[in-house]
Amino acid sequence: MAGEPQADCLFCKIVAGEVPATIVRETETVVAFRDINPQAPTHVLVIPRAHYRDAAALAAAEPQLVADVVREAGEVAAEEKVHGAGYRIVFNTGTGAGQTVFHAHAHLLGGRGLAWPPG
Ligand code: 5GP
Repeated sequence: MAGEPQADCLFCKIVAGEVPATIVRETETVVAFRDINPQAPTHVLVIPRAHYRDAAALAAAEPQLVADVVREAGEVAAEEKVHGAGYRIVFNTGTGAGQTVFHAHAHLLGGRGLAWPPG
């Protein structure tokens, strides 16, 4: 069923506590944890507990969850004190855009200058 945990999904396992992660924030619908391979001083992944393969599938099925993810990314940015200088919220979508984990997630990046356009 849409949104149900997937046995072969790394981020579902993090949500379930079966794979360890450094969790920085949790709500009823969202979990935020530090990226294992950080690309900035603050690099936190914000994910819905529910499983959808990417941000577009999430938005189509449960648009309120997209709002939850983006709001919590903003809360983490405030907690990490990167909101003043600016930060980036990125949803890599599809392999060509660099998506490697197919459970929708936002990257929150901050704490350094962020060039535009991105690579
Ligand atoms: P994507 O490439 O799909 O946009 O982002 C996936 C992110 O998950 C990558 O930045 C990668 O470093 C991170 N990642 C992969 N495996 C793990 C893990 O086991 N734990 C954590 N905390 N992050 C992971």
